[in-house]
This record gives sequence, C-alpha cells and structure tokens, in this order.
Amino acid sequence: FKRDIGSREDAYAFTERLRQAIVPDIDWNGNPLGVGCSMGVSVYPDDGTKVTDLMVKADLAMYRAKRDRLEEAVFYDGSIDEENRDKSALSIDLRKALENGQLELVYQRQNSIADGSLIGYEVLSRWRHPERGYVTPDVFIPIAERDGVINEIGEWVLRKACAEAASWPTPAKIAVNVAARQLANSNLPEIVSSALAQSGLPSELLEIEITESGIIADARQALKIVRELKRIGVSIAMDDFGTGYSSLSTLQSFPFDKIKIDKAFVLDVSKSSQSQAIVKSTIVLGNALQIAVMAEGVENEDDLEFLRREGCTQAQGFLFGQPMSAAEIASA
Ligand code: C2E
Ligand code: CA
Ligand code: CA
Repeated sequence: FKRDIGSREDAYAFTERLRQAIVPDIDWNGNPLGVGCSMGVSVYPDDGTKVTDLMVKADLAMYRAKRDRLEEAVFYDGSIDEENRDKSALSIDLRKALENGQLELVYQRQNSIADGSLIGYEVLSRWRHPERGYVTPDVFIPIAERDGVINEIGEWVLRKACAEAASWPTPAKIAVNVAARQLANSNLPEIVSSALAQSGLPSELLEIEITESGIIADARQALKIVRELKRIGVSIAMDDFGTGYSSLSTLQSFPFDKIKIDKAFVLDVSKSSQSQAIVKSTIVLGNALQIAVMAEGVENEDDLEFLRREGCTQAQGFLFGQPMSAAEIASA
C-alpha cells in the first residue's frame, strides 16, 4: 500500500516510476533478458474500505492489464467487475448445463478435395442456455478451461460423440476437439478407450484434434499421452496450425496424422499473398513429413481452387456444409 498519495494522477505517476525501474533488460550471461510487468491499482476509499476488498480489486485490474498486454497500470473500475461477474455467472451455469442436458453436439463435414467424398465430421459443442440462447464454444470453452470443468465437459463430448457416431446407419469418422487441460490429464487415454468400448465405435473412426497450446505447457507429458492415444488406434490432428508457435520441432516430434490449417489463413486465401505463403508452406511441410493437410474455413470456390492447385487434399468449411445434428446426419 502506498499511503502518501493525494490523487489518481499521483498514483499513476508512481506506477510509471515503478515500471521504469522494472522493465530495463536484465543481463544474463551476456544476453539481454526482456522483462515485462502488469500493474493493477485500486483506490481507497472509492474502490473499498477494507484491505481485502482493495487487494481483490487491484488483482482484478492487474489481470486485465495482463490479458490486454498493457504496459500501463490499469485502474480498477466497475466494468472489470461486471465482466468477471458475467464470467463467474456463466461458469456456475456451465456446471449445471451438463447435468441439465443443455449441451449438444453438431457435426461438420470434412471432405476430400479431389472428388468431394466424405472423410469424416468434426464434432463441435453447442450450449443451449435457458436465458441467453445459444452460447458459442468460443465463449464457453475458455471459461470451462479456466475453471477446470472442461475435463467433465470434454469427457461428456467424447462419450456422446462416439455413441452418436456409432449409431449412424453407416458409422463415419469423427474428429473431437480436446482442450489443453484435457491433454494434461493422464486419465485421457482411459476415457477415450472407455468411450470407444461403450459405444462400439472402432478406434480408427476416432480422431483427436489438439492445439499447440495443449502441448506447450508440458510437452513431455503431452507426448506421452498422444503416444498412448495412438496405441489405442485413434488418429491425431494438429489443430489451428499457423496461429500459435507452429513450431517445426513439434511437428517433427509428435506423431500427427493430420495438420489443420487455421481458417484465418484459408478465408480469402486466393486474394491474400501473405495467406498464400503460409498455406503453401504448410502444404509443402505436410508433404515432406508425410502428414495429411486439411484446410478449415473453406467458404468459396476461389479459395478451394487455390487449395486444389497447391496440392492440399482435404477441406472443411461452409462451402461444403454447416454443422448438423447427429439425427440430420443419420437420416441423410
Ligand atoms: P475450431 O476447432 O477451429 O473449429 C472450427 C470452427 O470454425 C467452428 O466454430 C466451425 O463452426 C467454424 N467454421 C467451420 N467452417 C467455417 C467456415 O467456412 N468459415 C468460418 N468462418 N468458420 C467456419 P465453432 O463451432 O464456433 O467452434 C469454435 C471453437 O470452439 C473451435 O474451433 C474449437 O476450438 C472450440 N470447440 C468447439 N467445440 C469444442 C469441444 O467440444 N471441445 C473443445 N475443447 N473445444 C471445442
Ligand atoms: Ca478443431
Ligand atoms: Ca481453427
């Protein structure tokens, strides 16, 4: 606590002095190490009169600074609280959503570019919230990851998807997204085996999509789990390729069966030379490592034509179909 401060301007000036003292590079055996800092400020008595309240609020403000990668200190304000209340409310609702059957799965077609034949379906979660309507997975999956409920949701998704796919008149391959926290859970191979056994879905009809964020945290543990999954007979896809670190050593050391180029590079690839460079080099890389390459987010013929010309063999996107319910697929 800084006491002798008369105004917000004084507080701000103080945080700037702190920052100047913290951020200069540190010399580490002759190498400069960059240092960053995130600062949050709460003000007595505006933001609270108790020490604990002030600490909580300064902490929330600090997390906002961290999240938004702000150099300057963030002062607590009501909007931070509101945003957090909203997330906490959603995360409480999310725990109930599973019990109350509010989660649903939809399936999006993946096909061969050469002849349009079906390769399989990506499984995507939907949450039908009683008051808010459909909440998209972009919103609720990160919340579930943050508070740990992703492990229960992920297990439900695996079991449900295997059961639904096994019940189709002609069972098709399904690709299930697995979040970083699930990949860190040593029970994952057991859950996958049990989902396959209970549903009767053959293991070669299950693919697991993982992102690099799932690998970064603990690569050795992730590799161990991925190898166990491969032993069960499921295939592994590297999802969102191009958005994260996209480290070449990850591609080399993990036994991927597929690389999915993120839709950010696929949409309008025929018009963007930067996207073209990324897409082309990923295709070359996949070919060299003998890993299949799938483009996601294919929305138009021009982009598809570009992909075909460059030798990409698999595609997924609105051009081929919106995600559908299991029942729609069964009756198609
Ligand atoms: P993702 O794995 O990259 O999934 C592809 C997303 O792109 C899906 O959004 C899909 O509906 C959308 N998409 C498909 N084709 C097109 C297209 O042609 N154009 C555009 N603009 N978008 C297209 P969705 O269903 O909203 O899912 C968003 C993300 O949420 C997924 O991204 C995935 O990271 C995550 N997610 C969804 N379901 C699950 C789940 O069951 N478990 C986990 N861990 N993550 C999930
Ligand atoms: Ca995916
Ligand atoms: Ca993606």
